[in-house]
Amino acid sequence: MTVADQTVQTDLTHHTLWIDGRAVDTAARRDLVDPGTGAVHATVADGDESHIDAAVDAAERAFVAGSWSRKTPSERAQVLRRIAAACNDRVEEFVEAEMRCNGATVRQATGFHSGYSFAHLTYFADLIDTYAWTRPGPLTSFPALGTTMVKKEPIGVVGAIAPWNFPLLLTMWKVAPALACGNSVVVKPDEHTPLSILLFAQIAEECGLPKGVLNIVPGDGRVAGARLASHPKVGKIAFTGSTPVGREIMRLASGTVKKVTLELGGKGPSIVLDDADLDVAVDGVLYGCFVYSGQVCESGTRAIVDESIYDEFVSRLVERAKSITVGLPDDWDTDMGPVINERQQQKILDYVVKAQEQGVTVALGGKRPEAEELQGGFYVEPTILTGVTNDMTVACDEIFGPVLSVLRSTGDADAVRIANDSEFGLAASVWSRDNDRALQVADQVQCGSVWINDAHQINVEMPFGGYKQSGVGRELGPDAFDEYTETKSIYLDLTNSRAARPYDILLSHADD
Ligand code: NAD
Repeated sequence: MTVADQTVQTDLTHHTLWIDGRAVDTAARRDLVDPGTGAVHATVADGDESHIDAAVDAAERAFVAGSWSRKTPSERAQVLRRIAAACNDRVEEFVEAEMRCNGATVRQATGFHSGYSFAHLTYFADLIDTYAWTRPGPLTSFPALGTTMVKKEPIGVVGAIAPWNFPLLLTMWKVAPALACGNSVVVKPDEHTPLSILLFAQIAEECGLPKGVLNIVPGDGRVAGARLASHPKVGKIAFTGSTPVGREIMRLASGTVKKVTLELGGKGPSIVLDDADLDVAVDGVLYGCFVYSGQVCESGTRAIVDESIYDEFVSRLVERAKSITVGLPDDWDTDMGPVINERQQQKILDYVVKAQEQGVTVALGGKRPEAEELQGGFYVEPTILTGVTNDMTVACDEIFGPVLSVLRSTGDADAVRIANDSEFGLAASVWSRDNDRALQVADQVQCGSVWINDAHQINVEMPFGGYKQSGVGRELGPDAFDEYTETKSIYLDLTNSRAARPYDILLSHADD
């Protein structure tokens, strides 16, 4: 290993990389800023290419040694269940880590990590028991008589690159199926939100995951992330992040023809039909856009509302949105916390100014909240824009903040046309009292997930991913193992006869 490493004692504020079962420190360190207060709350080692190389080497050694890759599937399932139980016992530490790193409110982070995040480990552990790791193929008679078998095998070293909005959850979407299939993994968390993932790796090892099987290297995306995406020994990259970086990952991975799954950005349509139950739709559309301060890839950021109910819908929407309390993340009364950093805060506010220049009305919000205790952090008021048309920047770009654009449609076909007029296709919602009508609309919407009379319904048993520039491949659901395995076809000759084989199309028979 070329890395100048040393084992260090981690404490609550000094964090390291995790490579080959050891804490590894680096000379370069990064401050982690609490988005709720703007204060530095911890520092973390900053991994570079050499640390990625060391982590990939450790992962490969572990894979070849077979301490995990050649365990029986049910042995792997047992370990994954043990890890899930141990993590569930330490939910408060995960909540604290995410609240400090990405400004998730205590209600959001607790909701996610109590029961939900680690359920991914148990789901994939259960899937291990029912998955067809080997299946008999057909008996062949051409070109010769043989029997066949199809096997699913781990790929080897999987690289996982995660964003900051759901650091642990989105890592779990990758790590749980990758480990379940017997791979070794190197995770490059977002540089600002690595703490919950580092904690997870340490717990996993305490629960019996062999060292080197899971390695965590926080570091700059363009340095550590780019090395992981292009590393010749990495067989697959699972990436969640923005569409521009997704394009770059695809390019980097193409050098060694890696498998890729890309979960990218969105500009979700919330289609409100003229027969929608407005009480349900108003709350659902607000939840669909503003939860996690709008920093969710599948957020419904374009409400497409039928003209006949537009004015009433907007007026109810604005009134209800006024009840959303923006506050400090660790306050249980806070409904909406900060956005991730100052740069993102400014970017969101700039979008609002640009929208106004294009003729949009700010019906609510559009600025920083004034409360004194929020001045250090990176807050933006819940913002509702009306009079938006689908060609405006604010309706086309993924803003990744609490900004809801409300657009008019005239009839269902027009609503579908507007919904599909986007480079993205991650998720949509449809609001109607008529299930048949809603299902017809859902059928025509070009998105990987469509929720009828609800929002953000992501379930570990349902495949998740995007159409168009929202991604490649699917995470979650029963097919997820296909993304983390190679398929091998084995043919076994049953004739044991030279004559039965078709070699004579090339080689003359000895008796000829
Ligand atoms: P981002 O693309 O900036 O970063 C994501 C990760 O990629 C980070 O770990 C970053 O360090 C790394 N990275 C950056 N440049 C890289 C490079 N050149 N090579 C390799 N790695 C690099 O995204 P973000 O701002 O952290 O997250 C927000 C984005 O993620 C939004 O666009 C959102 O829609 C998307 N997202 C998608 C999903 C989904 O499931 N589709 C889920 C959550 C977030």
